[in-house]
Order: sequence, then C-alpha cells, then structure tokens
Amino acid sequence: MKKIIIIGGGTAGWMSAAGISSMMAGLDLDITLIESEAIGVVGVGEATLPHIKFFNETIGINEAEFMAATSATFKLGIEFVDWGRLGDSYIHPFGEFGLANAGVPFHQYYNKMSDQSDIGSLQDYSLPIMACRAGKFEPPSQDPRSVKSTYRYAYQFDAIKYAPFLRRHAEARGVTRIEGKVTEVKLDAESGDIQRLRLENGREVKGDLFIDCTGFYGLLIEKTLKAGYDKWTKWLPVDRAVAVPCKSTGPLLPYTRATADKAGWRWRIPLQHRTGNGHVYASDFISDEDARDSLIENLEGQMLSEPRLLRFTTGKRRKLWIKNCVAIGLSGGFLEPLESTSIYLIQEGITKLIELFPRRSGFNIDREEYNRLMDIEFERVRDFLILHYHATERDDTPFWNHMRRLDIPDSLAEKMELFRCRGRVAKYDLGLFLEPSWVAVYMGQRFAAQDYDRRVDLLPQDSVSSHMNGLRNLMAQTAAKMPSHQAYIKKHNMRSPHGAVTSAS
Ligand SMILES: Cc1cc2nc3c(=O)[nH]c(=O)nc-3n(C[C@H](O)[C@H](O)[C@H](O)COP(=O)(O)OP(=O)(O)OC[C@H]3O[C@@H](n4cnc5c(N)ncnc54)[C@H](O)[C@@H]3O)c2cc1C
Repeated sequence: MKKIIIIGGGTAGWMSAAGISSMMAGLDLDITLIESEAIGVVGVGEATLPHIKFFNETIGINEAEFMAATSATFKLGIEFVDWGRLGDSYIHPFGEFGLANAGVPFHQYYNKMSDQSDIGSLQDYSLPIMACRAGKFEPPSQDPRSVKSTYRYAYQFDAIKYAPFLRRHAEARGVTRIEGKVTEVKLDAESGDIQRLRLENGREVKGDLFIDCTGFYGLLIEKTLKAGYDKWTKWLPVDRAVAVPCKSTGPLLPYTRATADKAGWRWRIPLQHRTGNGHVYASDFISDEDARDSLIENLEGQMLSEPRLLRFTTGKRRKLWIKNCVAIGLSGGFLEPLESTSIYLIQEGITKLIELFPRRSGFNIDREEYNRLMDIEFERVRDFLILHYHATERDDTPFWNHMRRLDIPDSLAEKMELFRCRGRVAKYDLGLFLEPSWVAVYMGQRFAAQDYDRRVDLLPQDSVSSHMNGLRNLMAQTAAKMPSHQAYIKKHNMRSPHGAVTSAS
C-alpha cells in the first residue's frame, strides 16, 4: 500500500491529503490528489466542532495563519432558538455545566434545586455560554483547577478557503495534484479492486488505495462499487438547503445560531468578513420559494449574492470502505449541519483510516473494523440530531407535529427514557456528544427529568444552594473579564486580509 490516490479537492480531499501526508510522513507513501475545477466543490460548511483544532495542531498548522487565511472566527457553542417552544433560546456549549461534585454531575444538583426561585437557568452555570452571551472570547486555561479549563472551542470559517489553505500545506509535504476529470474507473478482473483511473484527457493513474472524496457524486464508492445507501429520511426528513452570505452587522459573535423555522431551521454563522446564512428544510412541508423567502426576510445584513439551492438525502453508504476504496466526506454520507458534524466525520474517517492503515492488500479485518467504527459515529450523530426535532412542544405547523410524533430509533428512545427517569445521560466510549451536550439539549428543549441522582441528598440543601450561587457569580465575573471576541482576533494578528472584523469593530 504505497500509492494513495485521492479523488476530489473539496474539504474532504484536502483534509485527507494534508492529514495523511503529515501524520504518516516518513513512511514512503506516494500521495496523489485528482480534482476537477470544472466540477467544483459544494462550498458550504462553515461551522465546526472543537476536534478540528486538534486536527490542525496535529498536522502543524499555525492557528493565527489559519484564522487569517480562512476569515475564521472562534466558536464556543451553538444557540438554538425556537426549538422547544416558540420564543425559547438556549446554547449548546462546548464545555461543562457547573462542576461535578463527588462524581455526581452538576445538572443533578440543579434538578433538585430547580423549583427554587433564585436558582436561575442551567445556562447561567456554563462559562462558555456566559462568554457567548457577552460576545467574549479567550482560549481555555490548561490549569485543571481553573474554571477557565471547563470549555473548548471550535472555528467558523469560509468553507471555500479551507481546502486551498490545506492544499499549500499538503503540497509542501510532497502531495502531487492533478487537475482533471476522472471519466473511467478500471477494476482488477480477479480481485475487484480498483486498479486505475482514466482522466478526460486520456491520462491513466494507477494506485493501491483509493480515497473517494468526490462529494455527493460518490464516483468510486457508489457509481463503481455499488455500496448502496441507508436513507434516514424517515427520521430526518429535511432534504434541501438554500444558502446565502450577507454583510456583517453588529459585534462579532463567538457562536453559531440555529433558528427553528416552519419546516426546518435557519443557520447564521458569523465570519470576519461576512455572515453565512442558510435555511435547511423538508421539501414535503414547504416550497422552495417559501423557504428562500423566509431566509431572505430574516437576513441581518445586505445580501451579498444570489441564494444557492442544494439537495441532499440524509443517510450514509452501507459501507464506507469497500475493496481498496474508502469514502470520506459527502461521498460517504450526509447528515444536516445542525450540530456542525460533517467536517468532524471527515476527520474521524481520516484518523481511523490512518489507525487501520493496511500494509498490503487483502485487509478484510481492518476494513470491517473501519466500517463498524464509522457506523457508530454516524448513528450517534443521527440520534442526537433527531432529539432536537423530537423533544419539542411545538405544534404550530404540520412539520413540527410530524416531528414531535415521530417513531424514533430504539437507540434514542432508550437514552431519552433513561434521562427522563432520573436525569442520567447514557454513556458510551465511541462517538460524538458527551454528557453536557445531551444535558444542554434535553433541558434546553424542556425535556425534564422526573427525579435526580439519590447521592444529591447527601449534601445539605443550604450548602448546595450557596455553592451554586458562588458558581454562578464566578461564571459571570470570569466571562465579564474576558476580551471581546473581535478584540481577541485583532490583538493576536488573526485578521483576515479579505475584510475588516465587521463594520462594528
Ligand atoms: C447545506 C450544507 C451545509 C453544510 N454546513 C456544514 C457545516 O456547517 N459544518 C460542516 O462541518 N459541514 C457542513 N456541510 C458539509 C460540508 O460542506 C462537507 O462535508 C465538506 O464541504 C466536504 O465536502 P466534500 O469534500 O466531501 O465534497 P465536495 O466539496 O463536493 O468536493 C468534491 C470534489 O470532488 C471533485 N470531483 C467530483 N467528481 C470528480 C471527477 N469525476 N473527477 C475529478 N474530480 C471530481 C470535485 O471537483 C470536488 O473537488 C454542509 C453541507 C451542506 C450541503
């Protein structure tokens, strides 16, 4: 397994090229990436999860250079507006709620005290949420005793700029780029492995391992190897998005906003030079025209281009690794960007491929393990997304009535039941979303626990109450002392050359 061929030069292709060339440097791999500018990239995907910071660091990317090159902003969480009920708002933070005590999570204490009038919202006990609400940002502390160590952060960046940035990085590490469209795929008659690709100009490219990053086309994994697709549309019926950038207004916010609409939801992602906006919707419940109108009516600034329509089918390929081909990115599957998970799934695909990287062909066991692990990743994200639609009291449109009454997967029903019973979050070793994420959505969307952990009663109520008061003040005061998000970007030379840090900076 020496010659690696990546087809596709979108985020998935260049992340794969940059990741493998950096993390496997010195192993004498020969990596080629083929991309077709004529086909182009999907070009949306601006919000990420904190894992991307680790990816960038591992491959040696300088944060300030990355921020400036991609017009990026920092992200401490996602605000969900109108999800539980119209008028509701909560933030899913990249961090803890309060502090655990004697192994009992903080929200358990909060649940016991929640009928006290001076207790406030659970949201008041999260430092990243307080920072979001105040428009503040500072990187977390490495000192585990500090309250500033209770959060992490991600980025919001211009989706068109990340792949070219990574390209420079990958080419500097020896990756060869070929411009051209792959028109034919030749298989080995005996093994069924992919042997070589033929480009439109007649050139042939041979390889040992092929990474399909051709986006929704799925040129190798589907069109050639017929993986098949598991559709999850019965649980997640949104199937279209309309996207448009607008001018920035007001201060630069360190979080993404997802506002529930009549038949889906709208995103708002603040970048340094503009704001990214989109409306993700179920075409069975709203027309394209109405979806577009709702997006435009809710823009906060002047529209900067014509809205773009994108179609998708939620789900994943039955297998992401078949023969000598691994599908990474949109070619492998797609789940709506409600929790900004696509780039995370790309990163997991690359990391797991590197961990299981075969020495020679005939690598069945590696392949099966890869497919098993990636199935878990996709299914965990799927269940978490369904929760957002299902844990709602909204009954104002046919879409919300449909989602509220949905027959959800058993894997999610069990988790919800466990939480309802005594506030316990189901724990798992593999896959995304840990306890604070589930707690944020359950409690943010009024899915209440009926009881709390018995160990909470071991502490006298007075001492819990004064501890909570102290904690709430500490969060508020610490957030107040942080620099503003835009001041931090300016001070650390992270400004994009493509525009000012918003008109208000
Ligand atoms: C509406 C929407 C919103 C999204 N928002 C987010 C978000 O907020 N956060 C997030 O993490 N993700 C988001 N995503 C997902 C994100 O956009 C993608 O995961 C990411 O851009 C990776 O895309 P890709 O590289 O797999 O595919 P693409 O960008 O489509 O790239 C495909 C590449 O393959 C090449 N190609 C195709 N066929 C051939 C051929 N025959 N020969 C040669 N080259 C070929 C193309 O030229 C292109 O270079 C969103 C997606 C959508 C649809």
